Amino acid sequence: MSKRIFTIDFETICAFSKNQNIELPYHLWDLEKTFERMQEILETLNVSPTFFILSSTAEKYPNLVKRISERYDIGSHSHNHNLINTLSVKEFSEDLKKSIDILQQLTGKKINKYRAPGFSLPAKEYMEQLIENQIEIDCSQTPTNHLYGQKTTNLQIPYRIQLKNGIIKEFPITTFKFLGKNIGFTGGGYFRLLPYSIIKHSTLSSDYLMAYIHLSDIEPNQEKIKELSLPLQFRRLVGTKTAEAKLRKWLSDFSFVNVEQANQEINWEEQKIISKV
Ligand SMILES: [Zn+2]
Repeated sequence: MSKRIFTIDFETICAFSKNQNIELPYHLWDLEKTFERMQEILETLNVSPTFFILSSTAEKYPNLVKRISERYDIGSHSHNHNLINTLSVKEFSEDLKKSIDILQQLTGKKINKYRAPGFSLPAKEYMEQLIENQIEIDCSQTPTNHLYGQKTTNLQIPYRIQLKNGIIKEFPITTFKFLGKNIGFTGGGYFRLLPYSIIKHSTLSSDYLMAYIHLSDIEPNQEKIKELSLPLQFRRLVGTKTAEAKLRKWLSDFSFVNVEQANQEINWEEQKIISKV
């Protein structure tokens, strides 16, 4: 099965740590304009992604989120963008419920997909809360230690997770081996940093791929944010001037589906089922 999935995390967070989220200074650039540029790329290249929407951002941009939901598949990216591994199960459940309620109310669509901030969804008790809240598909598991999350799977294929209260369908992040390290080349800083030849080669070598882009990845006119450390500053801005051209090339060289299309096309009965997260 060859399946390449394109997703966009819709949020105004540009960096975060255990204690604080740092918001992008949107007074310095216009989120709606960046969205329109992204939309032009998507329409031109005939790509219909899934948007994982941070509901605290949706509250600030309700009309934009309504427009997104009318046209595209959507899921939740939490409410507050707290790293899940810093929350209790109860706090996680409250944040998830709030996010789903806000997004469903705003868009009138049922929310059945979730991606954790920073790929930080840790253990079974948390995943059981997804089922409690009618989430059917999770896109949070990662096969590599991430800046914010720990490696949570060895699998780089869609699979099922058997939990006490039901089954979650999982679309994990994909990586490739580079200098002995597993690199998540399909989104964020690595996508902006790596030359297109490496991204193309890695894409060709994977039957399954999960892309995760942010609107800020293609915004070239971003100011420095003084609260950020130098490494985080670099990570945030590297490649933002060339990312749009790279993205256009990637989306025209390969075809992508969204999470819902992949979900419909996969015969889940044939997908591996695991009970250990
Ligand atoms: Zn995020």
